[in-house]
Amino acid sequence: MVTTIVTIRGDESDEAKITQAGEMLKEGKLVAFPTETVYGLGANALDAEAASKIYSAKGRPSDNPLIVHIADWDALGLIVSEIPTKARMLAEKFWPGPLTMIFPKSERVPYEITGGLDTVAVRMPGNETALRLIRAGGGYIAAPSANTSGRPSTTTAQHVKDDLDGKIDMIVDGGEVPIGLESTIVDLSGENPVILRPGYITQEMLEEVIGKVQMDEALIKEDSNIVPKAPGMKYRHYAPKADLLVVEGKQEDVVAKINELVREKADHGLTAGVICTEETEPYYEAEIVRVIGSREDEASIARNLFAILREFDDLDADGIYSESFESPGLGQAIMNRLLKAAGHQVLKVGRGGISKYSRLLFVSSGNTSVGPMAEGIARKKLEGRAVEILSRGLVVLFPEPVNQKAEAVMIRNGIRLDGHMSRRLAREDMGDGCLVLTIDKKQKEEIKKVYPEQSSVFTLEEYARSQPLSSPYGGELADYGRCFEQLEQMIDKVIRRMEWEGRL
Ligand code: AMP
Ligand code: MG
Repeated sequence: MVTTIVTIRGDESDEAKITQAGEMLKEGKLVAFPTETVYGLGANALDAEAASKIYSAKGRPSDNPLIVHIADWDALGLIVSEIPTKARMLAEKFWPGPLTMIFPKSERVPYEITGGLDTVAVRMPGNETALRLIRAGGGYIAAPSANTSGRPSTTTAQHVKDDLDGKIDMIVDGGEVPIGLESTIVDLSGENPVILRPGYITQEMLEEVIGKVQMDEALIKEDSNIVPKAPGMKYRHYAPKADLLVVEGKQEDVVAKINELVREKADHGLTAGVICTEETEPYYEAEIVRVIGSREDEASIARNLFAILREFDDLDADGIYSESFESPGLGQAIMNRLLKAAGHQVLKVGRGGISKYSRLLFVSSGNTSVGPMAEGIARKKLEGRAVEILSRGLVVLFPEPVNQKAEAVMIRNGIRLDGHMSRRLAREDMGDGCLVLTIDKKQKEEIKKVYPEQSSVFTLEEYARSQPLSSPYGGELADYGRCFEQLEQMIDKVIRRMEWEGRL
């Protein structure tokens, strides 16, 4: 497919281009266009077949619903079954603008658009070109961000071309977008209004109009076990190709820590890039330093974030360290995107910097198979390093030797578990310098409940950012063999992350 690109110039030639793009949308084709937030990939929202093309062009999971864009208030009635008073109040204040609201859907909206849900997300964008195009295209345009799924959203037509050239029919180039982060999403379909995705319109701005608004729990808790209410928010997103670590703390501590980490990488022949602000740029010694904006002007940081993440994919960096950008206003939306891009890898530095882990502890249920295997593999890989490796179980009534199949697989791979006997986890096995990795989620929850003071507790899968481990329990020797291979890969990633965070 050839992707036609038309440029909006703000003169009378625009009319014909908008009409042409609108005709394409009516024919069921895909047209990317600028909104005030990011570029959207548009299709006729009332045409299930047209909308489903969006999913294939983006490689988007089909359970991730699309936002329907409208250009006039009167258009809303056709696609929703009810308009709550609070929604009306918010629309009056913020539409056209960067606010998406969730409504109970009407029969006119195909389930292909809503990922099978009975609700529909609707927005009226605050950008003249977008509004004209929506009208020209029939009034109802489904438009997720115009990027390949998982990549940063697009803020220029060139970014759209980089991701979707040859996969969509047209790109309407309207220059760089002004906001640069996707819309705030508020769910008004339940009893209390809930923010499902933070954006340019902040919680405070919403509360001024309709009173109490909650944040979806998944946005405030670091716990990755809570499933967010916006289906799309559960996916890893915006990820640059290189590893990204966010460093949090007082400005001078952050600069010192990042410089130290960059030097450490350089000693190992690796190049690390830095994302910083105008205020801190002069203090960095790294080869690749990118200024995201000024702390005096949060909007500049929001506007440049996705472009910088994309730029790093073309740079020769082995990894990226970024400052963090919390603040009451836009900071929440910025950090939400940045943390997703970083896969929630955050390093908190205090006075004197961060301490190294002195112990790596694997916790399984019985401490007789997967736990000891992980311990043995990690011990071999970390030989000679200043970190102690242990494994413990949550349900150990009396000491038992290692499962025979597990032991056989280990021996075949040159690792001995001489004399390992299962032991039950105790408080003194953990502590500040201990990184606790559990084999599954239930064990993590149990530790969090019984030892709430223990700070570094992750599932192995979560810390390694990898696929879930398939349990060999009750299986054949070959199952233990596969588990061994998987554990080896996961532990390599664990070690890499510990090193990358400067904690090994
Ligand atoms: P994008 O258009 O790429 O910015 O993604 C749209 C976001 O809106 C995703 O995170 C979706 O999960 C979310 N969304 C769309 N429709 C709904 C809905 N009916 N309920 C909850 N979240 C939704
Ligand atoms: Mg998106």
